[in-house]
Formats: sequence, C-alpha cells, structure tokens
Amino acid sequence: MNLLALTYPQLKDEFRRRYDKGAFHAAALYRSFYRAPDLDPERIEAFAASPGLARQVGRDLHIHLPKVVAQIQEEGVTKLVMALADGLRIESVVIPMANHATVCISSQVGCRMGCRFCRTGKMGLLRNLTADEIVAQVYLVKVQLGFRVRNVVFMGMGEPLDNFGQVTQAIRVLEDQRGLDVAKRHITLSTVGLPDAIESLAALDWPQLKLAVSVNAPNDLLRSRLMPINLGHPMDRLKRALQAYSLGRRATLFIEYVLIKDVNDDPGLAAELAAYLDGLPVKLNLIPFNPGAHSPFQAPESETVERFRRALIQQHLFVRLRSSKGAHIRAACGQLGGASP
Ligand code: SAH
Ligand code: SF4
Repeated sequence: MNLLALTYPQLKDEFRRRYDKGAFHAAALYRSFYRAPDLDPERIEAFAASPGLARQVGRDLHIHLPKVVAQIQEEGVTKLVMALADGLRIESVVIPMANHATVCISSQVGCRMGCRFCRTGKMGLLRNLTADEIVAQVYLVKVQLGFRVRNVVFMGMGEPLDNFGQVTQAIRVLEDQRGLDVAKRHITLSTVGLPDAIESLAALDWPQLKLAVSVNAPNDLLRSRLMPINLGHPMDRLKRALQAYSLGRRATLFIEYVLIKDVNDDPGLAAELAAYLDGLPVKLNLIPFNPGAHSPFQAPESETVERFRRALIQQHLFVRLRSSKGAHIRAACGQLGGASP
C-alpha cells in the first residue's frame, strides 16, 4: 500500500479487503500521514487497541518519498531537485505568493514531444512518473518543507497528457480533503495539446480543473516548426478538441504562447492567433522565451513583448504576461531537466 497513490476512499477499500477493517483505522492512518512525514502506525492513537493490526499495516506500507538532493533559491523561487527510487532525477519549483505558494510539478522524466525551444524536450522521454511520484512532489513541499501550498501547476518536466492514467490518479489524490486538499480549481494541467487525450479529459467531466494549452504559434507552418507533434495533430484538429472540451462548461481555457525573438513575435501574428482562437473561451498567457545554453532561439526584447501584448489586446484577447523568475537557476518554464543544478 502506498498512501501517496491512494485517495482516502481507495485506502478505505484496501483496509476492508486486506484486514476486514473499516473507516476508523483507514481515516486515522491517512490523516496522520498527510499531517506529518514520519509514519508509524504503532504510534497512531486509533491503532492503540489493535497492536497486531498496526504491525501488519506497518509491514504493508511501501512509501518511497523521493530524496531532495538539491534545494536552490533565487528571487524567492525555490527549485528542488529530487532523486527517485531508481536514481533518476526530477525537478519541482516552488513559487511563493503573498499568502500561499504555487508548486510547479513534473509528470515525466524528460518528455518525448520534442518542442524545439524546450530544454526538457531535448532529454527525450526516460520514463513516466507514477501517481505517487507526482503526488510526492507536492507532499514534500507542503508537509515536509512546510510551504502553504494552494496551487499546483503541471508545468514542470513532461507532457501530462502523455501519462494520462497516472496524472489523473495523482489529481484525485491531490484533491482529497483528508490529504493534501488541493482542489481542482487550484490545479492547472498544461499540455502541448494532444487532441485525443483532451477528449479523454473532457470525458472525465472535471469542469473545475484548469486546462492550459501551449499553442505558441498562430498557424500550422510555424507551429510544426516549433512543435513537431503538430505534424501529426494539426491545429484544426486541436481546435475541435478544445471546442468540445469547453462545450457545456463555462470554464476558461488558458492558452500559452512562448514568445521567441524573430520567430513568433511579429505583432502581425496576433490577428491570426485571435482568428484561430475565435469562439473559444480563452485567456492568454504570454511567456517570454527563456534561453538555455546552446539554444538556437533568443529571448524577445521587452519592447517586442509589449508590442505583441498590445496587439493581442486590440484583438480583444485577455492577456497576462508571465514572468521568468528563476531563470538563472533554471527554474523557469522549459528550463527543467538535463544537467546538474
Ligand atoms: N508539456 C507541457 C507542460 C510543461 S512545459 C506543455 O508543453 O504545456 C510548460 C510551459 O513551458 C509550456 O507552455 C511551454 O510552451 C513552456 N516552455 C517550454 N520551454 C520554454 C522556454 N525555453 N521558455 C519559456 N517557456 C517555455
Ligand atoms: Fe514536452 Fe512541454 Fe517541453 Fe514540449 S514544451 S518538450 S511538451 S515539456
């Protein structure tokens, strides 16, 4: 049994199946685990009258928290490098706000989508993370390090919809009120835009979950150049999936646009982007490209960013400019993975 992979109702079912015990012990175990990192059922009061059960549960629990091997800070942003049980490393980023923190988590070790501007993409996919490895990132930040986590964003390493089953199970565990208690309305899933997986997500009917789609270009020619997956999933197919997704729910779709110097930053592209997004309930996040070593691309000038932003606003789009805090410690978007911290 791994509590990081189970919601409370699932643990309750496990308890009934394994020990023929009900909610009382399962609830006590779950609550105590999600309150403190040290876990020994023999020390939980609810188990005092059943030492045999406590010992058996202790033997059946298998919880491998990743080990934090580096914790680096810059401009208030903290990057955590964690070693998994098999030695592979993943990264999460903690971004403190005024009263709470946002954790940016990884869903895979590497990524196979190959976006040309992304550092994680250069690694290729080493493997999917399991649900417990995804949840563990939030657990470490909230329970072990004591940050007041309110928001979770799947914007670290990996393509979450390429690891659908484990990511959706992780979301179920994250939102469990007896555990980490991060409601779906505080979780953002950022995707490269895989249409079939977006349709599967729509079928789950999770209207509160925030969906962010990395569009990054206004037409197929440019998008395929930046994002090879666009060759197999052209933009009109993506739009159909997004239309179906937003149909019937009032939820906003977040569109990400990484602005790269002289590649997709011409204000003339704003009208084309607006035409593509027409009819979708969107808000745009504009992200200035974070250059890494050996990148063929460059960051846009701040005047260009501003000009592009204004051009989008003229098209009646709601635009937010996302900052690149943590760029020097490679904690900013698209900079996770690869070499040592
Ligand atoms: N795979 C998912 C989530 C992880 S990437 C996705 O692609 O959406 C999170 C965001 O970082 C995406 O919007 C992506 O376009 C952006 N990004 C990737 N590399 C970047 C870079 N070098 N500079 C700025 N943003 C980048
Ligand atoms: Fe993968 Fe997202 Fe990077 Fe593309 S931008 S390579 S989908 S992590």
